[in-house]
Amino acid sequence: MIPEPQTKPRRRLPLAVKWTAVVGVGIFVTFLVFSLVLYGATGRILRSQEQRTLQDTLSAVEQRLSPIASKLTVDNVTPLLEVDGSDYQTSAGTGVSLVGGNDESVFADSVIQKLSRADVSLAVYSNKGIELYSTRSEDQPLVKTKTTTYKMIKKGSFNGMIVSAPIVSSTTGKHLGYVQITDRMQATHATMRRLMNMILILSGVALLVSLLMGFIMSRRFLKPIRSITKTIAVVNDEPQSDVRIPQLKQNDELSDLVNEFNGMLDRIQRFIDQQAVFVTDVSHELRTPVAILEGHLQLLNRWGKDDPEVLDESLAASLQEVTRMKSLIQEMLDLTRADQVDVQFPNAVLDLNQLVEQVVNDFTMIHPDFVFILDNDLQGPVWVRMYRNHLEQVLIILLDNAVKYSTTRKEIHVSAATNTDGAAIAVQDFGEGLSNEDRQRVFNRFYRVDKARSREKGGNGLGLSIAQQLIESYHGEISVDSALGHGSSFRIDLPTITPDVAEHLQSIADAQAPENPFKDSQL
Ligand code: ADP
Repeated sequence: MIPEPQTKPRRRLPLAVKWTAVVGVGIFVTFLVFSLVLYGATGRILRSQEQRTLQDTLSAVEQRLSPIASKLTVDNVTPLLEVDGSDYQTSAGTGVSLVGGNDESVFADSVIQKLSRADVSLAVYSNKGIELYSTRSEDQPLVKTKTTTYKMIKKGSFNGMIVSAPIVSSTTGKHLGYVQITDRMQATHATMRRLMNMILILSGVALLVSLLMGFIMSRRFLKPIRSITKTIAVVNDEPQSDVRIPQLKQNDELSDLVNEFNGMLDRIQRFIDQQAVFVTDVSHELRTPVAILEGHLQLLNRWGKDDPEVLDESLAASLQEVTRMKSLIQEMLDLTRADQVDVQFPNAVLDLNQLVEQVVNDFTMIHPDFVFILDNDLQGPVWVRMYRNHLEQVLIILLDNAVKYSTTRKEIHVSAATNTDGAAIAVQDFGEGLSNEDRQRVFNRFYRVDKARSREKGGNGLGLSIAQQLIESYHGEISVDSALGHGSSFRIDLPTITPDVAEHLQSIADAQAPENPFKDSQL
């Protein structure tokens, strides 16, 4: 024996976990992206603020040095940049090593304020690049430049901004040298570090909160799904069970799903019940003819062999029962096939006008003792999307019944007309009629008002079920109006189509089966 291939069980990850992970990570990533964008923007703002401040300082220094006419030296630069002790008060203890004083320095305050910061240093160079003056020692090389330049530099232990500018004499226009400010931007870096720490801590909190929210939400959303699964499991174990999913309090897609699912279970239940009833009915219907056959065969066995009269009688009765069984089996077959008409004849079309005329003519010929009155209001061809034999079969069932259940007045009216929804055909007789209760049931399988009399007339109680099944398969309707003792009127309503559509469908049907597909086919 070939061993069955072993399928490896796939790893199971509960939906709640997936959902939680997706929601949690989604919120976390969004938060992180926003935070980083904010972080970047803050960094840019702080840098441009710093740049403006340095620019002010630079302008102040340039203005002080620009009156020099020819050459920058230690001697003419230092006094112009030095301030006295009183100006210097604010920066005490910051390590700025300016000496002496200069009361004329109008920019002294602003210059000192900036230079008093331990992370900022200023240096002045001659036009040959020799350092003439510096506020504190910085090992950043001079950037010789013709215009003011700002550079963010991150190299070794240095991480900050370097601003360089040329010094031009305001009197002679001569290039005197360079001024360079080196700013390690410690305050900005500290602020950015603090901001980053806050972002990291808040991101962690956001991750925890979003995971928790995701978990709570997923549990809430998945609750109905768990109850659906439970119900399916119960129905799987016991298909006859009438258990249903409890209605949800909310009104959303999940409650729609629950309603649809319960509806589906109801339909399946009805179908199972119908099938069970059908099987019981069929066996019941077949039991009678089989019992009759058995009785006659026993009779023949005992006495029939020698008694030609019994022989004839029993054989005739048996044959009649066999014929009845044959018709019953054919009708049951018709009924099951009537379910599949949509699939079998999707493009079939027929002309109602012509068909009604033809069927009524046939009946007039077969039943000369009846008067058939056709009230046909149809003008020209009226097209219906239906396989011709099917509508013919339905009309035959209705006309047959009208004949079978007519009493003294042997008159049958057939009318046909179009209306806004399509076309309608009615078959009216003036016979037994139906009680209110029977009227509701005549379309049920095997239903006969008077079983014995109906059997006498060869009825199995399946004709109207077949008719209903066929008409509804083509999206039509069949109904009955009746008064007990006065007669009945059966009405068929069918949707019609325009001649163009009919022609188109006809050509498709012809192309699919060029040799007249309906010629030999039976229902
Ligand atoms: P059957 O083959 O027994 O006629 P149908 O399904 O055609 O089966 O009809 C079901 C039952 O409905 C019949 O047995 C009969 O009692 C009743 N019925 C059908 N048509 C008529 C009618 N035109 N007038 C009165 N009763 C009818």
